[in-house]
Amino acid sequence: MISILQLARPEILTLRPYEHAAWEPAFERMHANEMPWRASQEDSAAGLNRYPEPQPEELIEHLAQLYGTSPENVLAGRGSDEGIDLLVRAFCRAGEDSIMICPPTFGMYKVSARIQGAGVVEVPLLKERGFALDAERVLAAWNEKIKLIFLCSPNNPTGNLLDRAAIEALCTKLTDKAVVVVDEAYIEFAGVESIVPALARFENLVVLRTLSKAYALAGARCGALLAHKDIVALLSGVITPYALPTHTIESVLLCTDASHRAEAQARIQTILREREVLLNALVAVPAVRRVWRSDANFLLLQCVDVKSVLDAAMSGGLIIRDLRSNPLLADCVRVSVGTPEQNARLVRALERLPAAVSGDAA
Ligand SMILES: *Cc1c(COP(=O)(O)O)cnc(C)c1O
Repeated sequence: MISILQLARPEILTLRPYEHAAWEPAFERMHANEMPWRASQEDSAAGLNRYPEPQPEELIEHLAQLYGTSPENVLAGRGSDEGIDLLVRAFCRAGEDSIMICPPTFGMYKVSARIQGAGVVEVPLLKERGFALDAERVLAAWNEKIKLIFLCSPNNPTGNLLDRAAIEALCTKLTDKAVVVVDEAYIEFAGVESIVPALARFENLVVLRTLSKAYALAGARCGALLAHKDIVALLSGVITPYALPTHTIESVLLCTDASHRAEAQARIQTILREREVLLNALVAVPAVRRVWRSDANFLLLQCVDVKSVLDAAMSGGLIIRDLRSNPLLADCVRVSVGTPEQNARLVRALERLPAAVSGDAA
């Protein structure tokens, strides 16, 4: 057992996982209490009357290849959201342990911790340095109750990559002390290599990847948790037995084959061009105070008045993300890069707004 597993909850380490019906495709199934006939007009390849293969071998091999790792390092789940939840449940004792996050960041880390009854220690990103990771403060704030450190790169909702060398230095300094979870939901838009190859060097590194963004499969609900094989083995005893629905397995295999990968690559290039077009248009909009550069498929905007920007977008038939509930981004919105037509329509809708709200002296 690798030493980082000693951070996991003791009852999870000694858990005897549920024994699901054996996966023996050579035999006809009379061992899982399924119906022997399919529903009429049901169009899956495998048949929805059958339970799906748990951690399907072909899918796992495919994801390993897609992400440049080995099948033993891959756990597939219902989006990276499930990966986040599994980590928190397996590593944090309710009322005892904590996670660390670097706000402003993706909201699910905190929600998963709260559901589990785990604490949340916050070390904010450095806004004045383009929301850079404050690695020194992360180290200084660590204590032995903190089992997981969530780093999102590129970060949602600020859009910036975190410094790779700083992340790797944290992995080294926190060996045997904490699991460093790097959420790379948007890495395909960043034009840099994934941190996945570093899994070979750090037993306490976990990487989250998703098919929801670059592969246009948000509705399929599939993500991959990539980690040392012992972490994958531990979490595969915690994940629900038939986690991935048959339709999800079949759609993911289809939509990540060679031709779909080429399609995804081409569309990513279009999004990157449009990100630049949208950014340049939005910086010239009087109602927008600031647009941050982005390594993802969205832009963070600081607004003169968030409410009027949201309303103007809606009057153009578009909904953008209100970030006012986030104390660090109270005057900001987040915009996903859309089609060229949608982006142009958003800009037209915002251009009409005044530079200052009435009563605003500035
Ligand atoms: C969208 C997103 C995800 C993806 O979640 P899924 O459950 O895979 O759809 C994960 N992390 C971040 C930061 C995201 O923005």
